Amino acid sequence: MKRKLTKRQMINVELAERASNRKAAAALAHHVPKPEQRDLKILFNCECADPDCQERVPLTLAEYKSVHASPTQFIILKDHVEPEVESIEASGQSLAVVEKFSL
Ligand SMILES: [Zn+2]
Repeated sequence: MKRKLTKRQMINVELAERASNRKAAAALAHHVPKPEQRDLKILFNCECADPDCQERVPLTLAEYKSVHASPTQFIILKDHVEPEVESIEASGQSLAVVEKFSL
């Protein structure tokens, strides 16, 4: 990360990404027929604390919704985890589900 953000700023960046992903997920759930949703991988924004991050996280709607069922969980690329504001709850090959310390 190029510039050092405060913890609050990092969390705000993540909340903004999460909000934009939620909108995309809701629109897709509305417009894509249910049988097609099951296997469709959607490129969500990485919900990490870097305001310049342009990376995408491929997930199905169901995978995305299960992470966001908890308001303190975010999905980000594994090497974007910021230990100052989050801890890893679960991780796969390149993705991590993180839990925020405080929102
Ligand atoms: Zn990122």
